[in-house]
Amino acid sequence: MKILVVGNGGREHALAWKLLQSPQVEQVFVAPGNGGTAIMEKCQNVPLAVDDFAGISSFAQENSISLVVVGPEVPLALGITDALQSQNIPVFGPSKAGAQIEASKAWAKALMEEAGIPTAKSATFTDAEAAKAYVTQQGAPIVVKADGLAAGKGVIVAQTVEEAQTAITTIFKEGIGKSSDSSITLVIEECLVGEEASVLALTDGVTIRPLIPAQDHKRIGEGDTGPNTGGMGAYAPAPLVTPSLMERIEREVLERAIATLQKRHIDYRGVLYAGLMISPQGELKVLEFNCRFGDPETQAVLPLLETPLEELMLACVEQRLGEMPPIRWKSGACVCVVMSSAGYPGDYPKGKEITGISPAESTGAVVFHAGTKFGQTLVTDGGRVLGVTAIGENINSAKALAYTAVDKIEFAGAYYRRDISDKAIA
Ligand code: ATP
Repeated sequence: MKILVVGNGGREHALAWKLLQSPQVEQVFVAPGNGGTAIMEKCQNVPLAVDDFAGISSFAQENSISLVVVGPEVPLALGITDALQSQNIPVFGPSKAGAQIEASKAWAKALMEEAGIPTAKSATFTDAEAAKAYVTQQGAPIVVKADGLAAGKGVIVAQTVEEAQTAITTIFKEGIGKSSDSSITLVIEECLVGEEASVLALTDGVTIRPLIPAQDHKRIGEGDTGPNTGGMGAYAPAPLVTPSLMERIEREVLERAIATLQKRHIDYRGVLYAGLMISPQGELKVLEFNCRFGDPETQAVLPLLETPLEELMLACVEQRLGEMPPIRWKSGACVCVVMSSAGYPGDYPKGKEITGISPAESTGAVVFHAGTKFGQTLVTDGGRVLGVTAIGENINSAKALAYTAVDKIEFAGAYYRRDISDKAIA
């Protein structure tokens, strides 16, 4: 079987790597891929942009692709699944209608309300003055969220009313999160406290099965300080999500979401990712839904998966997930440490030579590439460059192995956090 993965990050490298572990998968193509997918055995990059639906569709037809797996949210929100399905190409990933669960925070909040999914109290506005009046009335801290996709720039956790007002002005002035066919909308939300966890689940639109829980590290600095990033590392399983909490997440979040999507006649097949806040009292609330695998959570979750990934994905696409035996997992834990370019999440240089990947992998770690490319040598090509990942008997040993591998890799300006997974160890 030949599979085409769409995307170019660490998540897509991890997906391709996991898919190729199955004897049923003879080749994986990645569009457009990165330096890691370029050199992986049985893997080939295809120079097609993630929003080139016509190109992806022709490639899939000409190369007898059995399944297209869509990594990032942008092509899903633009309707890649609808476009490929109209050509009878099997796709793992929700339709444009389903992707609204990530692409519109106001839409997701309305769905949560209808479904009775626990989430922060919120109000939606299309008028800046009305939003500001609401903030003044509610007081701070308070969270301001631009409605649409904003690549991590759309959420401001404001500590003061003034900060929230400024955020509202900026969102309206700069059109943050606005797509060509929408007006500016924002969601103002109660500020929650607690610890965050990510539960990624596979669904065929009827049945939904969670993967092991993970925890991301969104801030650039150790001890969760500094600006938000795409994610500086992750680990799984996250002990914060106890088996009883996971049961509640299944019942109160995942199953309710799928039932409500069905009620709306949205055929959702792919990943439903719940970003959760767990309060110190164990209260559970959904911060956001994503319509795709998380990055870097995927890099920490997939290495522990034992059931062949393509079997699960095909069961989702063919709507027979309910007939599948329980998902099997390796014991132990997995830690992924992201190495980034100097300056990230702000401006950063590209083209810095990367060395030490082979010595790092000879420790038993897997190095997932994100922002890398091959010229004469392997060089940096993005903010997040590598996800150095290791499995251990427990979080402690996985962390130690991951950092042993990190220490062998060098590129000018390499930055990483030293505390990935410490929250689990604590
Ligand atoms: P973008 O739309 O810019 O891509 P995003 O989808 O990543 O952003 P969220 O995941 O909803 O945005 O929020 C980003 C982070 O902001 C969360 O991981 C969390 O740390 C914080 N956050 C979001 N909502 C709340 C809330 N109600 N209370 C406290 N913190 C919150």
